[in-house]
Amino acid sequence: MQTSSCISSSLPLPIINHSGFREMEHEDHFAKNQKYDCLLFDLDDTLYPLSSGLANAILINLKAYMVEKLGIEPSKTDDLCNLLYKNYGTTLSGLRAIGYEFDYDEYHSFIHGRLPYENLKPDPVLRNMLKSLPYRKLIFTNADKVHALKTLNILGLEDCFEGIICFETLNPINKSCVTDDEDDIEFAGSTSATKPTTSNRTRNSQIFDIISHFAQENPSGNLPKTPVVCKPSEKAIELALNIANINPHKTLFFEDSVRNIQAGKRLGLDTVLVGTSQKVQGADYLLESIHNLPEAVPDLWEADVKSEVVYTENLAKETTVTA
Ligand SMILES: [Mg+2]
Repeated sequence: MQTSSCISSSLPLPIINHSGFREMEHEDHFAKNQKYDCLLFDLDDTLYPLSSGLANAILINLKAYMVEKLGIEPSKTDDLCNLLYKNYGTTLSGLRAIGYEFDYDEYHSFIHGRLPYENLKPDPVLRNMLKSLPYRKLIFTNADKVHALKTLNILGLEDCFEGIICFETLNPINKSCVTDDEDDIEFAGSTSATKPTTSNRTRNSQIFDIISHFAQENPSGNLPKTPVVCKPSEKAIELALNIANINPHKTLFFEDSVRNIQAGKRLGLDTVLVGTSQKVQGADYLLESIHNLPEAVPDLWEADVKSEVVYTENLAKETTVTA
């Protein structure tokens, strides 16, 4: 799929798009015998802590959007959020799958437009750490580019990355329309129960009742497919890797989501689960905070990264990084 460029010259950080990854000049120390040549970072709750409260605020805004914009009964939003997130990766993806239609920009603006960004602070320790790592560094987020850029700017990390792989990268048609190509996405269900059109804002008469579906003693039948491409779909991760010309076998993938980590692991990425010290299948490294990276993987700063897996447990959350 090809799109016109969505890299804006006014933005300090390029949004990577389908028209091809903009090759950057890499430094000589990306030797071919190094274990890694790329570090791929999730954004939310990975580069800043869950305790910032943004994730909670996003959930509140999602439920408000469902009620105010889609006419969903308030009593159903908890179950709906849980089921859609579980079965479709994101609530947005699930809402589209079960038949709701809406403008993606409007959705993202509603969800992110009133977040408590004031809870985020510049993180010069993380900035110095990232700057000292001699690898390609990219952001890979399900969020939209406005949120990603705003968050990175507040954290003071806007110039630490080569580019951003975001919602618009993986879903280049920026309205609620679906092409035959996009209808090919597999994450939930294996057949397409409905095919959205572009003419109606919502098609309430055709909404798939996923709550009733899972309320059955033995739910049967396939779930409708989603046109949205997002983590933890393996297709989404493969697409991101291809667009940004990333070799999964030479890349370290940082995430706070266990299922995203496990999907990345299945595709050959080495993985760092951020935000916990509890061992999880699929996670090669564990960090309670991204600040603990120098302790967990000190060889990242050395010429030859060893291949053994290291688990760091009971690390302090606010480790001072001097690298
Ligand atoms: Mg995250």
